[in-house]
Amino acid sequence: MKLTVLTDNNTYIDQYYLGEPALCFYIEEKDRKILFDTGYSDVYLRNAEKMGIDLREVDTIAFSHGHNDHTGGLAYFPKTGRTVRILAHPDTFLPRRDGTGEIGSPLNEEEVQKRFTLSFHKDPVRITEDLLWLGEIPVTVPFEKRLPIGIVLRKGKREEDNIYDDTALVYEKEDGIFVISGCSHSGICNIIEYARKVTGKQKVLGVIGGLHLLKEDSRLLATADWLRQQKIEMLYPCHCVSLAAKIVLAKEMPVREVGTGMQLEI
Ligand SMILES: [Zn+2]
Ligand SMILES: [Zn+2]
Repeated sequence: MKLTVLTDNNTYIDQYYLGEPALCFYIEEKDRKILFDTGYSDVYLRNAEKMGIDLREVDTIAFSHGHNDHTGGLAYFPKTGRTVRILAHPDTFLPRRDGTGEIGSPLNEEEVQKRFTLSFHKDPVRITEDLLWLGEIPVTVPFEKRLPIGIVLRKGKREEDNIYDDTALVYEKEDGIFVISGCSHSGICNIIEYARKVTGKQKVLGVIGGLHLLKEDSRLLATADWLRQQKIEMLYPCHCVSLAAKIVLAKEMPVREVGTGMQLEI
């Protein structure tokens, strides 16, 4: 499997791709071409073009969750003439707000259905033989309770938004699993535990993605300690991980920098 970072907050020196505080990964696995999230704007398209990646070949768009820094780019996705399947949790396109305004997907469910083959799931879905989209993540790790952000409108009613749609991908290899997260609102440890349960494989070869670790608090320290105990071979924290959090994590395990344009052969 080959993963290319099309959008991340970070860019590398001397590589003139665009960055934005958002996430989009392009995944090539066997004959499949998959987007994991679409970033906030059309930045992923502009970066892909510069990298020589033809996104008209994409057959599946899998969403980590509905926040606009992950779904905002969908409106710019090129009309390909082919069927593009969207894999998402049923909450993904619900309207969401916080103190800053609208933070949900700019396209609503109807608009998405007009252009794409939308399929909603809560249970895991196998995209290829070895690549799974995990669906709703159960909370099993005691220090990783759900942290609500803003409100969600469900059937016209305002609810505290626990972001139940937040999920991740897991790639199964013979000797273990590789986890690919969006924002990890569900908690990266909960995500890893669920990926282990679903695949039946314990060894974590690597983790790439947003971990939603920003403040230096007890949750960050507990997460770093838990991750260290899993003996993860390589951690690639990006998107919603602050420098302070990266420093804490790097003291506990091997950590590598992520930026737009990075490619990983997994
Ligand atoms: Zn988010
Ligand atoms: Zn995010």
